[in-house]
Amino acid sequence: MTSLLPALREMSGRTDSPEAVRFDGHSLTYDELSGAAAAVAHRIAGRGRVAVWATPTPRTVVAVVAALLAGVPAVPLNPRTGGRELAHILADSTPSAVLAGADDVLPGAFDGVERLDVNPSVRARATGFAEPAGDAPALVVYTSGTTGPPKGAVLPRRAVAASLDALEDAWGWTAEDVLVHALPLFHVHGLVLGILGPLRRGGSVRHLGRFSPEGVAAELLSGGTMLFGVPTMYHRLAGALDGPDPGRLAEALAGARLLVSGSAALPVHDHERIAAATGRRVVERYGMTETLMNTGVRADGAPRAGTVGPPLAGVELRLVEEDGTVLRDPESIGEIQVRGPNLFSGYLNRPDATAAAFTEDGFFRTGDMATIDPDGYVRIVGRKATDLIKSGGYKIGAGEIENALLEHPGVREAAVTGEPDPDLGERIVAWVVPDDPASPPGEAELAEHVAGLLAPHKRPRVVRLLDVLPRNELGKIMKRSLGV
Ligand code: ATP
Ligand code: MG
Repeated sequence: MTSLLPALREMSGRTDSPEAVRFDGHSLTYDELSGAAAAVAHRIAGRGRVAVWATPTPRTVVAVVAALLAGVPAVPLNPRTGGRELAHILADSTPSAVLAGADDVLPGAFDGVERLDVNPSVRARATGFAEPAGDAPALVVYTSGTTGPPKGAVLPRRAVAASLDALEDAWGWTAEDVLVHALPLFHVHGLVLGILGPLRRGGSVRHLGRFSPEGVAAELLSGGTMLFGVPTMYHRLAGALDGPDPGRLAEALAGARLLVSGSAALPVHDHERIAAATGRRVVERYGMTETLMNTGVRADGAPRAGTVGPPLAGVELRLVEEDGTVLRDPESIGEIQVRGPNLFSGYLNRPDATAAAFTEDGFFRTGDMATIDPDGYVRIVGRKATDLIKSGGYKIGAGEIENALLEHPGVREAAVTGEPDPDLGERIVAWVVPDDPASPPGEAELAEHVAGLLAPHKRPRVVRLLDVLPRNELGKIMKRSLGV
Protein backbone atom coordinates (compact mmCIF):
# COMPACT_ATOMS: atom_id res chain seq x y z
CA MET A 1 0.00 0.00 0.00
CA THR A 2 1.55 3.31 -1.04
CA SER A 3 -0.59 5.52 1.18
CA LEU A 4 1.61 7.48 3.57
CA LEU A 5 -1.04 9.03 5.79
CA PRO A 6 -3.78 6.45 6.29
CA ALA A 7 -4.17 7.02 10.03
CA LEU A 8 -4.27 10.79 9.61
CA ARG A 9 -6.91 10.57 6.90
CA GLU A 10 -8.95 8.22 9.06
CA MET A 11 -8.76 10.30 12.21
CA SER A 12 -9.26 13.73 10.70
CA GLY A 13 -12.49 15.30 11.91
CA ARG A 14 -12.59 13.07 14.99
CA THR A 15 -12.52 15.20 18.10
CA ASP A 16 -11.51 12.20 20.22
CA SER A 17 -8.41 11.55 18.11
CA PRO A 18 -5.26 10.71 20.09
CA GLU A 19 -2.04 12.72 20.35
CA ALA A 20 0.05 12.54 17.20
CA VAL A 21 3.15 14.52 18.16
CA ARG A 22 4.47 16.31 21.21
CA PHE A 23 7.51 18.56 21.25
CA ASP A 24 8.57 20.08 24.53
CA GLY A 25 5.02 20.40 25.85
CA HIS A 26 3.48 21.48 22.50
CA SER A 27 1.30 18.73 21.16
CA LEU A 28 -1.09 18.12 18.29
CA THR A 29 -3.75 15.44 18.09
CA TYR A 30 -4.32 13.66 14.80
CA ASP A 31 -7.30 15.88 14.10
CA GLU A 32 -5.34 19.06 14.91
CA LEU A 33 -2.39 17.93 12.80
CA SER A 34 -4.67 17.06 9.92
CA GLY A 35 -6.44 20.46 10.10
CA ALA A 36 -3.19 22.42 10.37
CA ALA A 37 -1.61 20.47 7.52
CA ALA A 38 -4.72 20.93 5.37
CA ALA A 39 -4.55 24.72 5.83
CA VAL A 40 -0.97 24.71 4.50
CA ALA A 41 -1.72 22.10 1.83
CA HIS A 42 -4.42 24.35 0.31
CA ARG A 43 -1.82 27.13 0.02
CA ILE A 44 0.83 25.02 -1.69
CA ALA A 45 -1.32 22.72 -3.86
CA GLY A 46 -0.19 22.73 -7.48
CA ARG A 47 3.24 24.22 -6.75
CA GLY A 48 6.65 22.73 -7.35
CA ARG A 49 8.90 21.47 -4.53
CA VAL A 50 8.70 23.27 -1.19
CA ALA A 51 11.58 23.63 1.22
CA VAL A 52 10.87 23.00 4.90
CA TRP A 53 12.98 24.78 7.52
CA ALA A 54 13.13 21.66 9.66
CA THR A 55 13.38 22.86 13.25
CA PRO A 56 12.46 20.27 15.92
CA THR A 57 8.93 21.68 16.31
CA PRO A 58 5.35 20.60 15.53
CA ARG A 59 5.25 23.04 12.63
CA THR A 60 7.90 21.01 10.78
CA VAL A 61 5.61 17.99 11.04
CA VAL A 62 2.69 20.14 9.88
CA ALA A 63 4.72 21.37 6.89
CA VAL A 64 5.85 17.91 5.80
CA VAL A 65 2.41 16.39 6.24
CA ALA A 66 0.93 19.34 4.30
CA ALA A 67 3.30 18.67 1.40
CA LEU A 68 2.41 14.97 1.45
CA LEU A 69 -1.32 15.80 1.46
CA ALA A 70 -0.93 18.28 -1.39
CA GLY A 71 1.29 15.93 -3.40
CA VAL A 72 4.10 18.51 -3.47
CA PRO A 73 7.63 17.17 -2.84
CA ALA A 74 9.09 18.45 0.43
CA VAL A 75 12.78 19.28 0.81
CA PRO A 76 13.64 19.25 4.52
CA LEU A 77 16.52 21.57 5.36
CA ASN A 78 18.86 21.57 8.32
CA PRO A 79 18.16 24.81 10.20
CA ARG A 80 21.79 24.89 11.25
CA THR A 81 23.15 24.97 7.72
CA GLY A 82 24.04 28.22 6.20
CA GLY A 83 26.57 29.63 3.83
CA ARG A 84 27.75 27.68 0.89
CA GLU A 85 26.00 24.41 1.71
CA LEU A 86 22.58 26.04 1.99
CA ALA A 87 23.17 28.08 -1.16
CA HIS A 88 24.12 24.84 -2.97
CA ILE A 89 20.97 23.04 -1.78
CA LEU A 90 18.68 25.94 -2.68
CA ALA A 91 20.22 26.37 -6.12
CA ASP A 92 19.96 22.62 -6.69
CA SER A 93 16.40 22.10 -5.40
CA THR A 94 14.88 25.42 -6.60
CA PRO A 95 11.97 25.38 -4.12
CA SER A 96 8.79 27.28 -5.03
CA ALA A 97 8.56 28.44 -1.41
CA VAL A 98 10.03 27.83 2.00
CA LEU A 99 7.79 26.74 4.86
CA ALA A 100 8.94 28.10 8.22
CA GLY A 101 7.62 29.47 11.49
CA ALA A 102 6.84 33.18 11.86
CA ASP A 103 9.62 33.51 14.45
CA ASP A 104 12.29 31.71 12.39
CA VAL A 105 15.05 33.96 11.16
CA LEU A 106 16.05 32.62 7.75
CA PRO A 107 19.54 33.15 6.35
CA GLY A 108 20.14 35.51 3.44
CA ALA A 109 20.42 32.54 1.07
CA PHE A 110 16.59 32.54 0.98
CA ASP A 111 16.41 36.03 -0.56
CA GLY A 112 14.10 35.72 -3.54
CA VAL A 113 12.43 32.53 -2.26
CA GLU A 114 8.79 33.04 -1.26
CA ARG A 115 8.24 32.44 2.43
CA LEU A 116 5.06 30.83 3.77
CA ASP A 117 4.67 30.81 7.53
CA VAL A 118 3.22 27.70 9.14
CA ASN A 119 1.01 28.24 12.16
CA PRO A 120 -0.31 24.99 13.66
CA SER A 121 -3.30 26.83 15.16
CA VAL A 122 -4.63 27.78 11.72
CA ARG A 123 -6.74 24.85 10.55
CA ALA A 124 -8.80 23.84 7.53
CA ARG A 125 -10.75 20.78 6.52
CA ALA A 126 -8.59 17.99 5.11
CA THR A 127 -10.88 17.16 2.25
CA GLY A 128 -10.35 17.19 -1.48
CA PHE A 129 -6.78 15.88 -1.51
CA ALA A 130 -6.46 12.93 -3.85
CA GLU A 131 -3.87 10.23 -3.10
CA PRO A 132 -0.91 10.89 -5.45
CA ALA A 133 0.53 8.11 -7.62
CA GLY A 134 3.17 5.81 -6.12
CA ASP A 135 5.94 7.09 -8.37
CA ALA A 136 5.29 10.74 -7.44
CA PRO A 137 8.18 12.11 -5.39
CA ALA A 138 7.32 12.44 -1.70
CA LEU A 139 10.57 13.96 -0.48
CA VAL A 140 13.90 15.19 -1.72
CA VAL A 141 16.33 14.50 1.11
CA TYR A 142 19.92 15.64 0.97
CA THR A 143 22.52 13.07 2.01
CA SER A 144 24.59 13.86 5.08
CA GLY A 145 27.58 15.05 3.05
CA THR A 146 29.94 12.72 4.89
CA THR A 147 31.90 11.84 1.77
CA GLY A 148 31.34 14.90 -0.43
CA PRO A 149 28.81 17.69 -1.07
CA PRO A 150 25.27 16.57 -0.12
CA LYS A 151 23.25 15.08 -2.98
CA GLY A 152 19.46 15.44 -3.24
CA ALA A 153 17.92 11.96 -3.23
CA VAL A 154 14.46 11.89 -4.79
CA LEU A 155 12.27 9.51 -2.77
CA PRO A 156 9.09 8.36 -4.48
CA ARG A 157 6.04 7.77 -2.30
CA ARG A 158 6.20 4.09 -3.16
CA ALA A 159 9.74 3.76 -1.78
CA VAL A 160 8.87 5.51 1.48
CA ALA A 161 5.80 3.31 1.89
CA ALA A 162 7.74 0.14 1.04
CA SER A 163 10.48 0.89 3.55
CA LEU A 164 7.96 1.67 6.28
CA ASP A 165 6.05 -1.52 5.42
CA ALA A 166 9.27 -3.52 5.87
CA LEU A 167 10.01 -1.86 9.21
CA GLU A 168 6.45 -2.38 10.43
CA ASP A 169 6.78 -6.02 9.43
CA ALA A 170 10.03 -6.31 11.42
CA TRP A 171 9.17 -4.21 14.44
CA GLY A 172 5.38 -4.48 14.50
CA TRP A 173 4.53 -0.98 15.63
CA THR A 174 0.90 -0.11 16.18
CA ALA A 175 -1.37 2.71 17.31
CA GLU A 176 -0.39 1.82 20.88
CA ASP A 177 3.26 2.71 20.33
CA VAL A 178 4.79 5.93 21.62
CA LEU A 179 8.14 6.73 20.04
CA VAL A 180 10.69 8.68 22.04
CA HIS A 181 12.60 10.74 19.51
CA ALA A 182 15.51 13.16 19.74
CA LEU A 183 16.83 13.16 16.18
CA PRO A 184 16.89 16.00 13.67
CA LEU A 185 13.99 16.09 11.21
CA PHE A 186 15.92 16.74 7.99
CA HIS A 187 17.29 13.23 7.36
CA VAL A 188 15.45 10.00 6.66
CA HIS A 189 16.21 8.58 10.10
CA GLY A 190 14.45 11.32 12.08
CA LEU A 191 11.79 12.18 9.51
CA VAL A 192 10.78 9.02 7.67
CA LEU A 193 11.36 6.48 10.46
CA GLY A 194 10.84 8.78 13.40
CA ILE A 195 7.80 10.79 12.29
CA LEU A 196 6.12 9.21 9.28
CA GLY A 197 6.58 5.68 10.65
CA PRO A 198 4.51 6.05 13.83
CA LEU A 199 2.05 8.53 12.25
CA ARG A 200 1.27 6.12 9.44
CA ARG A 201 -0.17 3.64 11.93
CA GLY A 202 -1.80 5.98 14.44
CA GLY A 203 1.02 5.86 17.01
CA SER A 204 2.47 8.94 18.64
CA VAL A 205 5.81 10.68 18.79
CA ARG A 206 7.37 12.52 21.70
CA HIS A 207 10.30 14.62 20.62
CA LEU A 208 12.79 15.69 23.24
CA GLY A 209 14.14 18.71 21.41
CA ARG A 210 17.52 18.13 23.01
CA PHE A 211 18.70 14.65 23.82
CA SER A 212 19.49 13.86 27.43
CA PRO A 213 19.58 10.55 29.31
CA GLU A 214 17.23 12.06 31.93
CA GLY A 215 14.75 13.10 29.23
CA VAL A 216 14.83 9.62 27.67
CA ALA A 217 14.26 8.01 31.07
CA ALA A 218 11.36 10.35 31.88
CA GLU A 219 9.58 9.72 28.55
CA LEU A 220 10.11 5.96 28.61
CA LEU A 221 8.81 5.77 32.17
CA SER A 222 5.70 7.78 31.29
CA GLY A 223 4.36 5.80 28.37
CA GLY A 224 7.17 5.71 25.78
CA THR A 225 7.50 2.29 24.18
CA MET A 226 10.31 2.71 21.63
CA LEU A 227 13.49 4.75 21.35
CA PHE A 228 15.19 5.61 18.03
CA GLY A 229 18.67 7.07 18.36
CA VAL A 230 22.13 7.39 16.88
CA PRO A 231 25.30 5.88 18.40
CA THR A 232 26.39 9.11 20.12
CA MET A 233 23.11 8.99 22.10
CA TYR A 234 23.60 5.36 23.08
CA HIS A 235 27.15 6.23 24.08
CA ARG A 236 25.77 8.87 26.45
CA LEU A 237 23.16 6.45 27.76
CA ALA A 238 25.90 3.88 28.38
CA GLY A 239 27.90 6.54 30.22
CA ALA A 240 24.90 7.48 32.37
CA LEU A 241 24.31 3.80 33.16
CA ASP A 242 27.86 3.69 34.50
CA GLY A 243 27.21 6.85 36.52
CA PRO A 244 26.23 7.39 40.15
CA ASP A 245 22.44 6.87 39.76
CA PRO A 246 21.79 4.36 37.00
CA GLY A 247 18.65 2.74 38.46
CA ARG A 248 15.92 4.89 36.90
CA LEU A 249 17.50 4.92 33.44
CA ALA A 250 18.18 1.17 33.54
CA GLU A 251 14.55 0.56 34.46
CA ALA A 252 13.37 2.86 31.66
CA LEU A 253 15.52 1.19 28.97
CA ALA A 254 14.71 -2.30 30.22
CA GLY A 255 11.00 -1.52 29.95
CA ALA A 256 11.08 -0.21 26.36
CA ARG A 257 9.71 -2.48 23.68
CA LEU A 258 12.37 -1.52 21.18
CA LEU A 259 15.70 0.34 21.33
CA VAL A 260 16.98 1.12 17.83
CA SER A 261 20.29 2.60 16.71
CA GLY A 262 21.33 3.63 13.22
CA SER A 263 23.01 6.19 10.93
CA ALA A 264 26.50 5.07 11.99
CA ALA A 265 28.07 2.03 13.62
CA LEU A 266 27.21 1.46 17.27
CA PRO A 267 30.47 0.62 19.03
CA VAL A 268 30.44 -2.93 20.41
CA HIS A 269 31.62 -1.59 23.77
CA ASP A 270 28.53 0.65 24.16
CA HIS A 271 26.19 -2.13 22.99
CA GLU A 272 27.61 -4.47 25.64
CA ARG A 273 27.56 -1.87 28.43
CA ILE A 274 23.86 -1.21 27.80
CA ALA A 275 23.10 -4.93 27.62
CA ALA A 276 24.94 -5.57 30.90
CA ALA A 277 23.15 -2.76 32.75
CA THR A 278 19.63 -3.27 31.39
CA GLY A 279 19.41 -6.80 30.02
CA ARG A 280 18.30 -5.21 26.71
CA ARG A 281 20.17 -5.40 23.42
CA VAL A 282 19.96 -2.44 21.07
CA VAL A 283 18.66 -3.29 17.58
CA GLU A 284 20.99 -1.86 14.95
CA ARG A 285 19.53 -1.10 11.58
CA TYR A 286 21.35 -0.04 8.45
CA GLY A 287 20.07 2.33 5.86
CA MET A 288 20.84 5.42 3.89
CA THR A 289 19.11 8.35 2.24
CA GLU A 290 19.11 6.68 -1.17
CA THR A 291 17.77 3.30 -0.10
CA LEU A 292 15.86 4.07 3.09
CA MET A 293 16.20 1.02 5.32
CA ASN A 294 18.04 -2.13 4.25
CA THR A 295 18.59 -4.32 7.30
CA GLY A 296 17.51 -4.73 10.89
CA VAL A 297 16.84 -7.44 13.45
CA ARG A 298 13.16 -8.19 14.07
CA ALA A 299 11.59 -7.12 17.36
CA ASP A 300 11.37 -10.80 18.37
CA GLY A 301 14.85 -11.59 17.00
CA ALA A 302 18.26 -11.64 18.61
CA PRO A 303 20.33 -8.46 18.14
CA ARG A 304 24.06 -9.07 18.15
CA ALA A 305 26.75 -6.49 18.87
CA GLY A 306 28.65 -5.34 15.80
CA THR A 307 26.01 -6.45 13.30
CA VAL A 308 23.06 -4.69 11.68
CA GLY A 309 20.96 -7.82 11.28
CA PRO A 310 19.59 -9.50 8.16
CA PRO A 311 17.99 -7.71 5.17
CA LEU A 312 14.46 -6.44 5.74
CA ALA A 313 11.52 -7.97 3.84
CA GLY A 314 11.70 -7.21 0.13
CA VAL A 315 15.33 -6.01 0.19
CA GLU A 316 17.82 -7.99 -1.91
CA LEU A 317 21.34 -7.52 -0.59
CA ARG A 318 24.59 -8.86 -2.02
CA LEU A 319 28.33 -8.34 -1.56
CA VAL A 320 30.41 -7.56 -4.60
CA GLU A 321 34.16 -7.58 -5.32
CA GLU A 322 35.90 -4.57 -6.79
CA ASP A 323 35.77 -6.15 -10.27
CA GLY A 324 31.99 -6.59 -10.01
CA THR A 325 31.86 -10.31 -9.21
CA VAL A 326 29.31 -11.26 -6.62
CA LEU A 327 31.03 -12.79 -3.59
CA ARG A 328 30.23 -16.44 -3.07
CA ASP A 329 31.94 -16.48 0.28
CA PRO A 330 30.12 -13.71 2.14
CA GLU A 331 32.54 -13.99 5.02
CA SER A 332 35.05 -12.03 2.96
CA ILE A 333 34.70 -8.26 2.60
CA GLY A 334 32.70 -6.86 -0.33
CA GLU A 335 30.67 -3.78 -1.24
CA ILE A 336 27.02 -3.92 -0.22
CA GLN A 337 24.65 -3.59 -3.17
CA VAL A 338 20.90 -3.46 -2.68
CA ARG A 339 17.83 -3.77 -4.85
CA GLY A 340 14.20 -3.51 -3.85
CA PRO A 341 11.10 -1.33 -3.72
CA ASN A 342 12.79 0.89 -1.09
CA LEU A 343 15.21 2.53 -3.56
CA PHE A 344 15.22 6.22 -4.50
CA SER A 345 14.58 7.20 -8.10
CA GLY A 346 17.78 9.21 -8.57
CA TYR A 347 19.78 12.25 -7.50
CA LEU A 348 18.27 15.60 -8.35
CA ASN A 349 20.06 17.23 -11.32
CA ARG A 350 22.78 14.56 -11.26
CA PRO A 351 22.08 12.11 -14.10
CA ASP A 352 25.73 11.02 -14.19
CA ALA A 353 25.93 10.35 -10.45
CA THR A 354 22.59 8.53 -10.65
CA ALA A 355 23.74 6.34 -13.53
CA ALA A 356 27.02 5.59 -11.79
CA ALA A 357 25.22 4.60 -8.60
CA PHE A 358 23.34 1.70 -10.19
CA THR A 359 24.59 -1.56 -11.67
CA GLU A 360 23.23 -2.83 -14.98
CA ASP A 361 20.89 -5.17 -13.13
CA GLY A 362 19.42 -2.41 -10.99
CA PHE A 363 21.35 -2.79 -7.74
CA PHE A 364 22.39 0.38 -5.89
CA ARG A 365 26.08 0.60 -5.05
CA THR A 366 26.07 1.70 -1.42
CA GLY A 367 29.79 2.36 -1.11
CA ASP A 368 29.63 0.51 2.22
CA MET A 369 31.74 -2.60 2.80
CA ALA A 370 30.60 -5.59 4.82
CA THR A 371 30.82 -9.27 5.54
CA ILE A 372 27.82 -11.51 6.19
CA ASP A 373 27.77 -14.02 9.04
CA PRO A 374 26.77 -17.61 8.19
CA ASP A 375 23.30 -16.96 9.59
CA GLY A 376 22.72 -13.90 7.40
CA TYR A 377 23.58 -11.08 9.80
CA VAL A 378 25.34 -8.24 7.98
CA ARG A 379 28.49 -6.91 9.62
CA ILE A 380 29.42 -3.47 8.29
CA VAL A 381 33.12 -2.90 7.91
CA GLY A 382 32.76 0.76 6.90
CA ARG A 383 32.74 2.97 3.87
CA LYS A 384 34.87 2.04 0.89
CA ALA A 385 36.06 5.65 0.62
CA THR A 386 37.12 6.25 4.21
CA ASP A 387 37.00 3.10 6.33
CA LEU A 388 38.71 0.49 4.25
CA ILE A 389 42.45 0.48 4.74
CA LYS A 390 44.73 -1.41 2.40
CA SER A 391 47.84 -2.17 4.38
CA GLY A 392 50.55 -4.75 3.72
CA GLY A 393 48.35 -6.58 1.20
CA TYR A 394 45.40 -6.83 3.60
CA LYS A 395 42.00 -5.16 3.39
CA ILE A 396 41.27 -3.93 6.90
CA GLY A 397 38.10 -2.30 8.20
CA ALA A 398 38.50 0.72 10.47
CA GLY A 399 35.53 -0.28 12.65
CA GLU A 400 37.11 -3.36 14.17
CA ILE A 401 40.16 -1.35 15.23
CA GLU A 402 37.98 1.48 16.57
CA ASN A 403 36.00 -1.05 18.62
CA ALA A 404 39.23 -2.45 20.08
CA LEU A 405 40.53 1.01 21.01
CA LEU A 406 37.21 1.93 22.65
CA GLU A 407 37.55 -0.99 25.01
CA HIS A 408 40.47 0.79 26.69
CA PRO A 409 39.17 2.67 29.74
CA GLY A 410 41.30 5.71 28.92
CA VAL A 411 39.76 6.10 25.43
CA ARG A 412 36.58 8.13 25.12
CA GLU A 413 36.33 8.25 21.32
CA ALA A 414 38.36 6.72 18.52
CA ALA A 415 38.56 6.97 14.76
CA VAL A 416 40.90 5.01 12.52
CA THR A 417 42.14 6.09 9.11
CA GLY A 418 44.75 5.02 6.57
CA GLU A 419 47.63 7.22 5.48
CA PRO A 420 49.98 6.67 2.54
CA ASP A 421 53.01 4.62 3.51
CA PRO A 422 55.93 3.70 1.25
CA ASP A 423 56.24 0.13 2.57
CA LEU A 424 52.71 -0.84 3.52
CA GLY A 425 50.69 1.07 0.93
CA GLU A 426 48.73 2.55 3.79
CA ARG A 427 49.56 2.67 7.47
CA ILE A 428 46.91 2.59 10.18
CA VAL A 429 46.45 5.81 12.13
CA ALA A 430 44.42 5.91 15.36
CA TRP A 431 42.84 9.24 16.35
CA VAL A 432 42.02 9.07 20.02
CA VAL A 433 40.06 11.37 22.32
CA PRO A 434 41.31 10.53 25.82
CA ASP A 435 38.83 10.16 28.65
CA ASP A 436 41.01 12.36 30.83
CA PRO A 437 42.99 14.86 28.74
CA ALA A 438 45.32 15.45 31.70
CA SER A 439 46.56 11.85 31.58
CA PRO A 440 45.95 10.37 28.12
CA PRO A 441 46.90 6.73 27.57
CA GLY A 442 50.44 6.48 26.19
CA GLU A 443 51.23 5.04 22.78
CA ALA A 444 52.93 1.98 24.32
CA GLU A 445 49.97 1.33 26.59
CA LEU A 446 47.53 1.48 23.67
CA ALA A 447 49.81 -0.73 21.59
CA GLU A 448 49.81 -3.33 24.35
CA HIS A 449 46.03 -3.08 24.71
CA VAL A 450 45.32 -3.64 21.01
CA ALA A 451 47.96 -6.38 20.80
CA GLY A 452 45.68 -8.43 23.04
CA LEU A 453 42.74 -7.91 20.69
CA LEU A 454 43.94 -7.52 17.11
CA ALA A 455 46.13 -9.44 14.67
CA PRO A 456 49.50 -7.72 14.05
CA HIS A 457 48.55 -6.31 10.63
CA LYS A 458 45.52 -4.56 12.16
CA ARG A 459 47.40 -2.67 14.85
CA PRO A 460 47.73 1.13 14.51
CA ARG A 461 51.22 2.38 13.65
CA VAL A 462 50.54 5.94 14.71
CA VAL A 463 48.41 7.35 17.54
CA ARG A 464 47.23 10.97 17.44
CA LEU A 465 45.42 12.62 20.34
CA LEU A 466 42.49 14.99 19.75
CA ASP A 467 40.17 16.98 22.05
CA VAL A 468 37.13 15.96 20.10
CA LEU A 469 36.35 14.07 16.89
CA PRO A 470 34.82 16.00 13.97
CA ARG A 471 31.18 14.85 13.79
CA ASN A 472 28.01 16.03 12.04
CA GLU A 473 24.54 16.39 13.65
CA LEU A 474 23.87 12.68 13.45
CA GLY A 475 27.15 11.99 15.22
CA LYS A 476 28.81 10.59 12.09
CA ILE A 477 32.56 10.98 12.16
CA MET A 478 33.61 13.28 9.32
CA LYS A 479 36.79 11.45 8.32
CA ARG A 480 37.33 13.91 5.48
CA SER A 481 38.37 16.38 8.19
CA LEU A 482 40.98 13.86 9.35
CA GLY A 483 42.68 14.04 5.99
CA VAL A 484 41.09 10.99 4.34
P1 ATP B 1 27.08 11.28 1.83
O1 ATP B 1 26.42 10.21 1.04
O2 ATP B 1 26.64 12.65 1.46
O3 ATP B 1 28.56 11.14 1.92
P2 ATP B 1 26.10 9.85 4.16
O4 ATP B 1 26.38 8.61 3.38
O5 ATP B 1 26.62 9.90 5.57
O6 ATP B 1 26.60 11.14 3.38
P3 ATP B 1 23.38 9.20 4.78
O7 ATP B 1 22.58 8.72 3.63
O8 ATP B 1 22.69 10.05 5.80
O9 ATP B 1 24.54 10.10 4.23
O10 ATP B 1 24.05 8.02 5.56
C1 ATP B 1 24.07 6.70 5.08
C2 ATP B 1 25.36 6.02 5.51
O11 ATP B 1 25.45 5.93 6.94
C3 ATP B 1 25.45 4.60 5.04
O12 ATP B 1 25.88 4.51 3.70
C4 ATP B 1 26.47 4.01 6.03
O13 ATP B 1 27.79 4.32 5.64
C5 ATP B 1 26.16 4.76 7.31
N1 ATP B 1 25.32 3.93 8.21
C6 ATP B 1 23.99 3.99 8.39
N2 ATP B 1 23.57 3.09 9.32
C7 ATP B 1 24.69 2.45 9.73
C8 ATP B 1 24.95 1.41 10.70
N3 ATP B 1 23.99 0.88 11.43
N4 ATP B 1 26.24 1.01 10.85
C9 ATP B 1 27.23 1.56 10.12
N5 ATP B 1 27.05 2.54 9.21
C10 ATP B 1 25.80 2.98 9.03
MG1 MG C 1 26.14 8.24 1.36
